[in-house]
Amino acid sequence: MTKGMPPRARVDQIKLSAESWDAEQILAWAFESFGGRVAISSAFGAEGMVLIDMASRVQKDFRIFTMDTGFFFPETYDLMQVIEGRYSVSIERVQSLLSVEEQGRVHGAELWKRDPDLCCNLRKVEPLRRKLAELSAWITGIRRDQTEARAGAGKIEWDDKFGLVKLNPIADWTEKRVWRYIHDHAVPYNSLHDQGYPSIGCTHCTRAVSAGEDARTGRWPGLAKTECGLHIIEQPAQGERLSAQAADA
Ligand code: SF4
Repeated sequence: MTKGMPPRARVDQIKLSAESWDAEQILAWAFESFGGRVAISSAFGAEGMVLIDMASRVQKDFRIFTMDTGFFFPETYDLMQVIEGRYSVSIERVQSLLSVEEQGRVHGAELWKRDPDLCCNLRKVEPLRRKLAELSAWITGIRRDQTEARAGAGKIEWDDKFGLVKLNPIADWTEKRVWRYIHDHAVPYNSLHDQGYPSIGCTHCTRAVSAGEDARTGRWPGLAKTECGLHIIEQPAQGERLSAQAADA
């Protein structure tokens, strides 16, 4: 990487060749390039567990954070404890500015049923934006074949929405490959996966799926919503784009 080059220019320079790198190489480049200013973002699904295990083999100390909505399953909180013990890391828990009770008082009961986008914004997107403001790069476990919105994800890309480098080391992996890694390396995983939950989010918005159903149909069941907003690409307004370019210059 060229020293002194702004992060966005570094991404432009490397993103094409990075497509042929394997996941370990992407992680190694991230740790080498950004040190303590890069962190893994995870809700501890199967993909996140692969990344955490792989990161522990590439770098002794690494950062993980999660948007703790207050609505995780008990199994997810249990897994977080297992991760901290096994990998000797402290998970950074990022929370909404509103407690669960305050959200109920301000926006009414069961907001996730009436306006799940607002609920996700309050409990996930705004906390993520706050966390990312202290970082230069973030690492996610998204895969291209999970949803339409993720199909164009690069392994290394500039995140216009949040204004930093985004790394998706297993963007080109299949679900089968994720599970092969987990079994080959005896990686811990959420016990709900064995009870029909391929994708696990908040208790209110996740259900088990039947055999043959798409993995993401268990998220926001009955709604057209398929994403919480963290990985949806938005083009910045012209003014924002110009200021971003000025900052990179
Ligand atoms: S997944 Fe559901 S409960 Fe969780 S933040 Fe989004 S709308 Fe709220």
